[in-house]
Amino acid sequence: MKVIRKDGSIVERKFEEVEGKEAFWHTSAHVLAQAIKRLYPTTKCGIGPSIEHGFYYDFDFDFNFTEEHLQKVEDMMKSIIEESLVLQQFILTRDEATHYLKERKEPYKLELLKELPCKVEISFFEQGEFADLCSGPHLRNVSYIKAIKLTQIAGAYWRGKEDNKMLTRIYGISFPRRCDLENYLNQLEEARLRDHRKLGKELELFTFVEEGPGFPFFLPKGMVVKNLLLDYWRKLHEREEHGNAAVSS
Ligand SMILES: [Zn+2]
Repeated sequence: MKVIRKDGSIVERKFEEVEGKEAFWHTSAHVLAQAIKRLYPTTKCGIGPSIEHGFYYDFDFDFNFTEEHLQKVEDMMKSIIEESLVLQQFILTRDEATHYLKERKEPYKLELLKELPCKVEISFFEQGEFADLCSGPHLRNVSYIKAIKLTQIAGAYWRGKEDNKMLTRIYGISFPRRCDLENYLNQLEEARLRDHRKLGKELELFTFVEEGPGFPFFLPKGMVVKNLLLDYWRKLHEREEHGNAAVSS
């Protein structure tokens, strides 16, 4: 895969390499934003980084965007990928960049632009009709993305500050091979089946209630297990302290 770096140079990277994966997932976020702008042109864009597993992009929608909209967005992303758009960097002066973002009615990007250090050149990357204030690195072409899945949406305050507006964060994952996506989704399903929150309830060991999210509430069977473990733990302490009593059970 060819990756364009911040300085405009192009290097060859594999998806398995850190720089390759970051560029891959970050470029997927660009494709997501492009799909959103095609489908809902009045939407305002926040930020769209790569993360540990995949990518996200934050949007300010002027309607109630729900999980039901995801399939339509995913389909649009796939058709963008089929267009094999090339990513190209262009540099603007600060004034030009301000004008450019004002014209495109992107208030969040304008806020980011204002915070960039005075002397830096303002870097944008474009693919087809879509451009983003961004320095990269990116894939050279969106067609490297062969499999894509939007996984969930969540609320996220702009820049993580409670006083700011709550934006809609769309998460996704993408791969250079279809089988990689299938494996990833299978792993997620396996993890879901082994989720302690699910198993705790099924085995009647502990449960979670709305009043205390994140805190397990032990059920009678769970208390038996917990007390057995505590007894064993105490015996271990006694053994280490006195150096003689044998530990049974
Ligand atoms: Zn970018």
